[in-house]
Amino acid sequence: MSNLYNIIDLHSSLEFYPRFPFRYSSPCCSRERKMSVQLSLINTTSEPEMTVVNRHKYSSLFASDHRDFLLSPTGAQIMISDLEHKTVGIYFSANWYPQCQTFSKLLNQVYNQIQARKDSKFEIIFVSSDEDLNAFNNFYQSYMPWLAIPFSDLETKKALSKKFDVEGIPCLIILQPDDDDDESVLHDGVELIYRYGVEAYPFTNERLDELSRQEKEKHERQTLLNLLTNHDSDFVLAHSACKEVSVSSLMGKTIGLYFSAQWCHPSHKFTPKLISIYQKIKQNITQQESNEEQEDFEIIYVSSDHNELEFNSYFSVMPWLALPFGDPTSKNLTKYFDIRGIPSLVILGPDGKTVTKNGRSLINLYEEEAYPFTEARVELLEKQMDEDAKNLPSVELHSGHHHELMLVSQGNGGGPFICCDCDEQGLGWAYQCIDCGYEVHTKCVRPVVPVSSA
Ligand SMILES: [Zn+2]
Ligand SMILES: [Zn+2]
Repeated sequence: MSNLYNIIDLHSSLEFYPRFPFRYSSPCCSRERKMSVQLSLINTTSEPEMTVVNRHKYSSLFASDHRDFLLSPTGAQIMISDLEHKTVGIYFSANWYPQCQTFSKLLNQVYNQIQARKDSKFEIIFVSSDEDLNAFNNFYQSYMPWLAIPFSDLETKKALSKKFDVEGIPCLIILQPDDDDDESVLHDGVELIYRYGVEAYPFTNERLDELSRQEKEKHERQTLLNLLTNHDSDFVLAHSACKEVSVSSLMGKTIGLYFSAQWCHPSHKFTPKLISIYQKIKQNITQQESNEEQEDFEIIYVSSDHNELEFNSYFSVMPWLALPFGDPTSKNLTKYFDIRGIPSLVILGPDGKTVTKNGRSLINLYEEEAYPFTEARVELLEKQMDEDAKNLPSVELHSGHHHELMLVSQGNGGGPFICCDCDEQGLGWAYQCIDCGYEVHTKCVRPVVPVSSA
């Protein structure tokens, strides 16, 4: 009875289920947000009918037979009827999950910004799945300036998570005061707050349509200059003697924006690989210089390092350029490209427009062949890969696994995967042991070396 929920932690199950599209790197990098913990209700004894019939919908949702108020962080009782005409966010969260703490901090900022606006009509109600009253009090009082359902009211909390189909936390459901149809209920409040922050208020469908229109326009107007410069800075850093390179001098090149950080574990594997492929691409371009196409490639490090020391040390191993540490452009780019996990490689074409946000997986799949990362190039490579796969054996023995591996493709049991050998993303052709959920890139298969009897 102490726990409201039965928890299945997706993180720990990942290792045993590598066919989990592109999520492996995410949990290591705490900026990841959508990794919800799956919850399933226990104690599913028949729900008592809500007997309170009230004048407005908030009472029917948040009141109980014995209670017509909510708690404030000071312990004061706030009447539910005070919520009338307000937009209300129902916030499902718990102290024991780090993603909830991260999100609560952000939500706190956004909440305060909204409350500071003139005529704002907004409230949040915390629905806790903390393990006990102490944990609830600590979490609530340290992170949340808004209201809460009393911790002891299991019935109401259960009814809310059932009504809104809550499958993971953190979860923020947003209700409009004067709109009763289901379409006005937003289920992805967490996503919206991460994406738009305070701009998302008042969370109506009209507002969200407007925001997504604005975003689209911004991407259409995108140039290298408006991406990488601001009124304080119009350069990136280089290792060479002239330490600053103007952004305008990079126009006309294919540019990779490399989102990474020294603290990010998956980057430790990917960065050296990217360095070697970058050098090969540069080499290939120099060799082709004769054919008069003035193409060129550059990578710019967009750092999420914790401090300048880490930034300097990590940048020192990279052969390319970097945005200066602490340049606000880095944060803006992360938001603009909606970067969910690092390392991440966004490719911009010579015209400054986005070619692909999947640079990392293209590098993993095709290495230096991936350049210049365009749709046409990828199509060609895919065809080539299908062609090459015809010559691959349908069954392989791999020294990293004790069962036979079957050749699979996207069409027959394959899909995005995390290679169990190199830990990188994969797509398309792969060798797979379906029983173990073991899967590797075709190029990662290593022959089984016979045990020598010496
Ligand atoms: Zn691999
Ligand atoms: Zn196996």
